[in-house]
Amino acid sequence: MVGAGQAGLSAAYFLARDGLRPGTDFVVLDHSPAPGGAWQFRWPSLTYGKAHRVHDLPGLPLEDGDPGRPSAEVVGAYFARYEETFGLRVRRPVDVTAVREGEGGRLRVESDAGVWATRALLNATGTWDRPFLPYYPGQETFQGRQLHTAGYRGAAGFAGQRVVVVGGGTSAVQLLIELAEVARTTWVTRRPPVFQDRPFSEDWGRSAVAQVDRRVREGLPPQSVVSVTGLAATEAVREAQARGILRRQPMFERITPHGVAWADGREVEADVILWATGFRAALDHLAPLRLREPGGGVRMDGTRVVRDPRIHLLGYGPSASTIGANRAGRTAVRDVRRLLAGVRDAPPPEPVAVAAQAG
Ligand SMILES: Cc1cc2nc3c(=O)[nH]c(=O)nc-3n(C[C@H](O)[C@H](O)[C@H](O)COP(=O)(O)OP(=O)(O)OC[C@H]3O[C@@H](n4cnc5c(N)ncnc54)[C@H](O)[C@@H]3O)c2cc1C
Repeated sequence: MVGAGQAGLSAAYFLARDGLRPGTDFVVLDHSPAPGGAWQFRWPSLTYGKAHRVHDLPGLPLEDGDPGRPSAEVVGAYFARYEETFGLRVRRPVDVTAVREGEGGRLRVESDAGVWATRALLNATGTWDRPFLPYYPGQETFQGRQLHTAGYRGAAGFAGQRVVVVGGGTSAVQLLIELAEVARTTWVTRRPPVFQDRPFSEDWGRSAVAQVDRRVREGLPPQSVVSVTGLAATEAVREAQARGILRRQPMFERITPHGVAWADGREVEADVILWATGFRAALDHLAPLRLREPGGGVRMDGTRVVRDPRIHLLGYGPSASTIGANRAGRTAVRDVRRLLAGVRDAPPPEPVAVAAQAG
């Protein structure tokens, strides 16, 4: 297993519940310094109360999460307690650099802490390590500061500055609301944002997930959740709309040394361009296996990679949410158990992730 975020821990729980021994029959490798998955890196002003909804991991509820504390702390502490409670023995920091075809039908997992040979790989590496930055002409000439949401630590560093926020997702909206307290902001998005007034319902969630699922079954890259669900018109959002903070401009055409410019000749001067342009699946270490389809995505059947049924992607596409990641963990473990049961001459007990450590 690679990755110990929501998806990885959920799968590790189901493996252990099935009687597989952590550290012996399977191993969880994670390159972050501490428990918490990507949550440990979220900006401190993203308090637990401001997160959409962090679903409990299976078997242990997150009780008494203080809505005023940073999500990074609340979720980090919860994941640490979870790993401890179920003895999941996550190995960190271990950076998996490449997975390639190994000997005897096994996959060879290469890392900075050694090499593993495995008959099945549950990959749960999330997206945080792959911030996406689009290119616009003139970008390299900009004399101000450019950063991605992954590098944002709070509004304090932007006091008195002119900030262009790029992107139409939830992060862009949350950061605009924070930054407007201290800075002069301009919001640009490719498409006009759609704010949803209706409360989130199970049905709506299901149909959004089904839509993303259809794409990854066709081998297309997963689209963002916001493009399917729209943005939630929370009380804070409505207030910001009323104050004019969320007045959106279409995408600019180019970047100048001192700001951004539109095709009609309009320009806005800026000290900072903040790219709230999302993330991509962190799958570079799987490149030697050539899992991608001509459409640019990995063709999936549930959590299983169609090109290589030994590999499952958890937290990818339709399972890229805390609730989806939980479900993916359960499904993938069931599937992997079936796969391994079908392997002839398998010595008991059946190792799942570590067959041999060499390095
Ligand atoms: C700003 C932001 C806010 C969000 N808020 C919510 C929310 O409120 N509710 C919700 O349901 N979802 C939310 N999401 C989506 C959220 O990311 C997922 O729901 C979930 O936390 C992802 O879990 P994961 O296990 O797939 O990935 P992650 O939490 O990213 O875990 C992946 C782990 O894999 C490790 N890893 C990656 N590459 C390697 C490698 N090569 N070798 C070893 N280890 C590696 C990383 O260190 C990390 O620990 C949010 C996303 C963002 C960006």
